Amino acid sequence: MTAHTGFVIVGAGLAGAKAAQTLREEGFGGPVVLLGEESERPYERPPLSKGYLLGKDERDTVYVYPSQWYADHDVDLCLGTTVTGIDPAAHEVALADGSRLGYAKLLLTTGSSPRRLPPVPGADLDGVLYLRRLDDSDRIKEIFASVSRIAVIGAGWIGLETAAAARAAGVDVTVLEAGELPLLRVLGREAAQVFADLHTDHGVDLRCGVQVAEITGDGGRANAVLLADGSRIDADAVIVGIGITPNTQLAEAAGLETGNGVRVDAHLRTSNPDIYAAGDVANAAHPLLGTHIRVEHWANALNQPQTAAKTMLGQDVSYDRVPYFFTDQYDLGMEYTGYVEPGGYDQVVFRGPTDTREFIAFWLAEGRVLAGMNVNVWDVTDPIRTLVTSGRAVDTKKLADTDVSLADLLCASDRAS
Ligand SMILES: Cc1cc2nc3c(=O)[nH]c(=O)nc-3n(C[C@H](O)[C@H](O)[C@H](O)COP(=O)(O)OP(=O)(O)OC[C@H]3O[C@@H](n4cnc5c(N)ncnc54)[C@H](O)[C@@H]3O)c2cc1C
Repeated sequence: MTAHTGFVIVGAGLAGAKAAQTLREEGFGGPVVLLGEESERPYERPPLSKGYLLGKDERDTVYVYPSQWYADHDVDLCLGTTVTGIDPAAHEVALADGSRLGYAKLLLTTGSSPRRLPPVPGADLDGVLYLRRLDDSDRIKEIFASVSRIAVIGAGWIGLETAAAARAAGVDVTVLEAGELPLLRVLGREAAQVFADLHTDHGVDLRCGVQVAEITGDGGRANAVLLADGSRIDADAVIVGIGITPNTQLAEAAGLETGNGVRVDAHLRTSNPDIYAAGDVANAAHPLLGTHIRVEHWANALNQPQTAAKTMLGQDVSYDRVPYFFTDQYDLGMEYTGYVEPGGYDQVVFRGPTDTREFIAFWLAEGRVLAGMNVNVWDVTDPIRTLVTSGRAVDTKKLADTDVSLADLLCASDRAS
């Protein structure tokens, strides 16, 4: 058997593009092939529910690199190319057109897909939409321009951002959420209430604790959502944002270890020595947190592939960045730094008033900061990250006091240790 020399990356999203870039930056001179099933070259998804959907960002701004970048860096970008299987023993991937491609090392950056509605009647009607890809955002933008009312199923980040964009377009919005509050599991009651109030203040009809029973249609097109309590929400389109599932099918079929994503160690190696994973699909051992985590956020897709690429090149590196994500809804901008298991905290400390939506919330366990969320307060990510990584107990009175700088608090926590 001929030894393959090329590095193959499956999944041409942000993570795939960043891995290709790092391989070249680190001096890899062999073939780099980036395979993606979408017809678009790698692009960033956050604008699809924000600036791009709002019509503020031009299409050109969403791409990771200009199309020429791939040729300039000798990256063989194959779009419209679906990988259908991995043969680890032969070191080959199978493509949908029946051909096979050899690899020396393989990186999986296959990302994730929107979770589909459970099989309620009407779930497949026209006008029931999901938001993941650029053309989904195009379609939803067109709909906002032509309808008067929509229903959004799911008050997670994507659902809420889409609701905000719809309101900006002058569309009436009903948000339907199964939980008691939007984002309750992620944020806890008090911080979740901030997002509930934000949306109701902007005219969203927010209905929590509801179950979708059926989507009704007229001529094959969705026209209303029926709830289990018998109420009916008229809607010209229904946008579903009920979470995502990692695209692990290839890894599973190849016999790699999976479980809430593709399991990788802190170096981003899978259970096969020549296969790696990064981005939304990777469930990675986190050295600092002492557990496996799968992070479905932009910063992880930006940074993790750099570690994966270096590991592929034989460098001894591990990925220990603290998770970070952001959202923009109406006039609220938020950044969240850290990681908390649902229910994994015993105290929430607010620094600044939540009613004016200008505050930082901290989640703590035994006095140690696990995560911080700054809402309309800027340039605090670094001190929040340091608080999290220090792993030291802080004085919670000072933490809540806007007159004590976060930097001073860090010094105090250093002295206390
Ligand atoms: C609308 C939207 C808004 C978001 N907003 C934010 C935000 O505000 N803040 C934040 O932190 N994060 C946000 N995110 C999340 C962030 O965009 C993702 O974490 C990031 O896109 C993950 O990148 P990835 O490269 O790992 O995966 P993906 O972006 O999912 O890319 C994976 C690619 O692999 C391709 N692929 C999969 N299987 C195969 C196969 N078998 N063969 C070939 N190709 C394949 C897919 O088609 C896809 O193009 C948002 C996501 C969406 C959808």
